Amino acid sequence: MIKKQDIRALSKDELRDFFVAQKDKSFRGNQVYEWLWKKGAHTFDEMTNLSKDTRNMLEASFVINHIEVDTMQQSNDGTIKNAVRLHDGLIVESVFIPSKNRTTACVSSQVGCSLDCTFCATARLKKMRNLNSDEIYDQVIATDKQSRFYQDHKLSNIVFMGMGEPLLNYNNVLKAIEMITSDEGLAMSPSRITLSTVGLPKMIKKLADDGVKFNLAVSLHSAIDEVRSKMMPINESSNLAELLDALQYWFVKTKKTVTFEYVVWKGINDKKKDIDALVAYCKKVPSKINIIEYNAIEEDGFKQADASAIDYYVRTLEKNNITVNVRRSRGKDIDAACGQLANKQA
Ligand code: SAH
Repeated sequence: MIKKQDIRALSKDELRDFFVAQKDKSFRGNQVYEWLWKKGAHTFDEMTNLSKDTRNMLEASFVINHIEVDTMQQSNDGTIKNAVRLHDGLIVESVFIPSKNRTTACVSSQVGCSLDCTFCATARLKKMRNLNSDEIYDQVIATDKQSRFYQDHKLSNIVFMGMGEPLLNYNNVLKAIEMITSDEGLAMSPSRITLSTVGLPKMIKKLADDGVKFNLAVSLHSAIDEVRSKMMPINESSNLAELLDALQYWFVKTKKTVTFEYVVWKGINDKKKDIDALVAYCKKVPSKINIIEYNAIEEDGFKQADASAIDYYVRTLEKNNITVNVRRSRGKDIDAACGQLANKQA
């Protein structure tokens, strides 16, 4: 049997050409495109403005590969973790995070992860494959539906902070964002989207060159090479100086401030020298700091620093006119918080 093609791999022009080749009108291509993206159809039968014959013809030629929300776990703070089954049976997780004025989707970009950050649960899963752009887009559509259902309004923000490293799946992530922001997709403003990266200098420069309009967050965790390399082995091949150079380039090109994500661990980066190094680093590039709570994963031996150490960070950063926010974790009770996504239920 010939394997049918996934129809969402076709661009709008290709769909229009397909209908012309079938001796039909090219605008049918627009109609199908709208069903596939704006309306998020998962079957040809849903495409009610097409004749039954056309729907059958499409069914005979194509499949619509799509995700299925396999299990949903709801936290007592309202956060929902979705285990998402891909068309080939692999599972990733996405998280829906409601708060007073906004609802945020945290989406995955890869199945597993190839980076070995010592404190992250996803790092313990082998990287299986990159997600396609429609698999990323579908996670957003699924959380948008949850937002409309539970909060009565559409999804307001997206963070690429789920499983995987988005900049190692560059083309598909950018294609998904293009669709999310396009009028033919969700028409969401790019200023509501944040991509979080471990900090790959070449790829950050590429983002800047490509003129992206979304926000960039970098998982910094330490501004001292020795300490950062221990926590994030990627720092051995791309160190803090190279990262800084790429971020300065990013700022010159985009005029956008970078956000540094930062966990303070007891005995690792909770001393004055760590804070001083961070202040010095932040002064070299327009940036702000999000201090994120450490979410313990099994047997890793790391502990969140004492509140006094975190207070000291905040006071010192503020004294130096660096914006700092302390973020509380959401969905911890269901392992849905940063660094906890590890397909435990799958
Ligand atoms: N690969 C990307 C995105 C995924 S991780 C990146 O590295 O940024 C999303 C965020 O969660 C990152 O800032 C990461 O450093 C952080 N994180 C990972 N494990 C964590 C844990 N156990 N507790 C708190 N934050 C964690």
